[in-house]
Amino acid sequence: MGVSYRVKALIGVKLTRSPFVEETVRVCSHDLPKGDAAFCPKCGEKLWTVETKPVAGYDPDSMDNFWGPFVVHSHDESEDYYVGLCPVELGDISYAENQEGSYELPTLLDIGKLAAELKEFLAPHGLWDDDFKVKLWVIGNVG
Ligand SMILES: [Zn+2]
Repeated sequence: MGVSYRVKALIGVKLTRSPFVEETVRVCSHDLPKGDAAFCPKCGEKLWTVETKPVAGYDPDSMDNFWGPFVVHSHDESEDYYVGLCPVELGDISYAENQEGSYELPTLLDIGKLAAELKEFLAPHGLWDDDFKVKLWVIGNVG
């Protein structure tokens, strides 16, 4: 075992907000009339708690990192999220080892069309920013 490196190239956008939302949910399932009580009179549990959940359709534990037609990349140690097409990923590169990968680009990849598709996909989740520019991101990770 030693240090290994992973490198990914992604054509898309870097989100400015995480694809998670905070939601207030009931802790216990006792049916109670609405009121100002903080604790359940039947079981003593707190009535409400705030949970952080991924936005609809996004599964952060997905093995292939797909979210709909796109790929999501995030760093384990940061809040950065990238969404787009993921042409190449090189994994577990050891010291002094060279790897290369290539990807056949979709016929004349239309960046404007990709930007429109990303906007259509991300905007309903409040994750689109009109200042976003679709870029080629090269993301390295040391593990
Ligand atoms: Zn209860």
